[in-house]
Amino acid sequence: MPELVRLFAFFAKKCQVSAKKGRVWLAAGRIVKILKMDRSRHAVVSRADLSRLFEALKERGYHLVGPTVREGAVVYDQIETVDDLPAGWTDQQDGGMYRLKKRGDAALFGYAVGPHSWKKFLFPPRQRIFSARRTETGFEIKPETEDAPKYAFIGVRSCELHAIATQDKVFMGQFTDPIYQARREKAFIVAVNCGQAGGTCFCVSMNTGPRAQAGFDLALTELLENDRHVFLVEIATELGTEVMAHVPACDATRDDLEAAERVVRQTAAHMGRTMDTNGIKELLYRNYEHPRWDNVADRCLTCANCTMVCPTCFCSTVEDTTDLQGDHAERWRRWDSCFTTEFSYIGGGAVRKTARSRYRQWMTHKLATWIDQFGTSGCVGCGRCITWCPVAIDITEEVKAIRDSERHSGVKGTQEAPYEK
Ligand code: SF4
Ligand code: SF4
Repeated sequence: MPELVRLFAFFAKKCQVSAKKGRVWLAAGRIVKILKMDRSRHAVVSRADLSRLFEALKERGYHLVGPTVREGAVVYDQIETVDDLPAGWTDQQDGGMYRLKKRGDAALFGYAVGPHSWKKFLFPPRQRIFSARRTETGFEIKPETEDAPKYAFIGVRSCELHAIATQDKVFMGQFTDPIYQARREKAFIVAVNCGQAGGTCFCVSMNTGPRAQAGFDLALTELLENDRHVFLVEIATELGTEVMAHVPACDATRDDLEAAERVVRQTAAHMGRTMDTNGIKELLYRNYEHPRWDNVADRCLTCANCTMVCPTCFCSTVEDTTDLQGDHAERWRRWDSCFTTEFSYIGGGAVRKTARSRYRQWMTHKLATWIDQFGTSGCVGCGRCITWCPVAIDITEEVKAIRDSERHSGVKGTQEAPYEK
């Protein structure tokens, strides 16, 4: 009950309202519901009150991680307040090109995805797995016992929600990775529906965006119209409802919902790239020997950038270290890439010696074998591998080149599919 009184007092102050039977009436006549009492699926939070959401999360012990400008890019890092968000910034992206520029308004989420993805917080790039200490009788092994950080991810895009769901299948499917699982289960997710498509985005083709459909606690749509700057908040979970009970919010009107719909529709209509995914698995399976792999190999530097920025790539290797006395040893896991020669090293040699075989492995895994392995595509259409490839190799163009060659020649494939599914 005291909590209720506090909430009434809070809303009365914020909205100049009079309280009445659990509802608060705005001077302007709009109803404001106290979400804890009257749970609504949508609410509207003003730009000024967005900070209350951040505070409510911090009060619950979450470490906020969100977009912020650093070294000329929007990256994901620890943030403290709304002021850390990239207000007024947007990005220009194309093959091998990324640039920030000013938008001309004060949008907080007016850019597409940057070089980072959330995987670096759920599946850290470098992680100690265990340490060992020499004893008088042998070695004592000490497994790594991490108290997993409790993250609140702010600004997760729809394609990224799909990427997280994809990695869930990898790390919490047939085998469970305890480090990933502990971090994942604690994470609170604030999604953002995209208000702008990046120059290399193709989530519409991959059916992964731009609207966040599932996998979040709260989803924001930023509405900037005339002088009004608000966020339509979709509340998807009990936890989201609980947090929102501490954030001043108004009821969403039909106009708000329609405005949010327009934002997403407009974004969907402006994708920077497209990919025809029709029969893509079979297309790639029957083209293992396509000459296009030689063409791409002539350009590919095998630098592994595409795999590092990809939100679904999950390969890792282990490294063992010891001190000079041989008394202490550690095993570390670190991200690896199918573009390195060592990655396919087996019994005296690398299986994939050429750039051709490595690029083919990567792209065929993403778009074909991944479907057999996990039941979904390994690509969510975020476009990072295109933007951050130093020589602008474009996965959508590579698929199109193989598809077009079949269309033009009338010949389907260069070889039989290795196995039927
Ligand atoms: S495709 Fe581009 S980013 Fe990927 S390894 Fe080759 S050069 Fe590097
Ligand atoms: S393959 Fe490229 S476009 Fe697809 S999810 Fe990975 S980085 Fe994004």
